[in-house]
Amino acid sequence: MSVSESGTHNADAVSPNVERDPVTGHPRPPRREFKARGSFVRRCEGCNLPELNCLCPYQVKAESHAQVWLLTHPLEHYKPTNTGRLIGDVLSQTQVFTWYRTAPDEQLLALLDDPRYAPFVIFPDDQPDYTDRVVSLAAVSDAKQSGRIPVYILLDGTWRQARRIFRKSPYLDELPVLPLRTERETRYRLRKPASRAHLCTAEVAIELLRQGGDTSAAAVLDDYFEVFNDSYAASRSYHKIDPPTAAMQRLAACRT
Ligand SMILES: [Zn+2]
Repeated sequence: MSVSESGTHNADAVSPNVERDPVTGHPRPPRREFKARGSFVRRCEGCNLPELNCLCPYQVKAESHAQVWLLTHPLEHYKPTNTGRLIGDVLSQTQVFTWYRTAPDEQLLALLDDPRYAPFVIFPDDQPDYTDRVVSLAAVSDAKQSGRIPVYILLDGTWRQARRIFRKSPYLDELPVLPLRTERETRYRLRKPASRAHLCTAEVAIELLRQGGDTSAAAVLDDYFEVFNDSYAASRSYHKIDPPTAAMQRLAACRT
């Protein structure tokens, strides 16, 4: 990674006229992502999807034993196609932090020190230099049995951004690394994956929840992800989904 990233060493440097994040006060990236595609489309203020197929009627909360914390690359936050945000819509205990290389989030650091939680960084075990930190789902069960809340820390961004977050966040260096093992192929239709085996962020959460025993939460999130995926894709071709899909009907039934 160090070779391929040498040219972007100052990518996180802050220019003086940069906007600030109203929540964290951190510098904020330019919002060019909004203009990239569909900036003329009317979006719902509740779900940020095109109004034609709004997601709001299908928002359902679920309970899970494990929690998901997202460490999101700043360029990912403002993309309407981001699926990390779907996790928080379903699981209210989800925490979202913006990743800045030079300024770790203080609240995240405090939570990592909190003994109530057993955090795992979700990352592939394909590099030799951290094999001693790699664990399996058995470690998640052990954490549960010792009364701690398992936490899946997802690095939310492109694969390249996720690697950068993993490599350049010293506060993650002591945490166990949990690789997701799954046969699932991505169903995400809004961006072209490099490989069908590359799951989007919501899909990673779904599989972890399912494998970790939070099966009903996984099922709700899976339906919600599918509705997001279908709705967004349909709106891109100005098509209104009608009648509701099976996933839409299941979620709507949970709300009544
Ligand atoms: Zn909406």
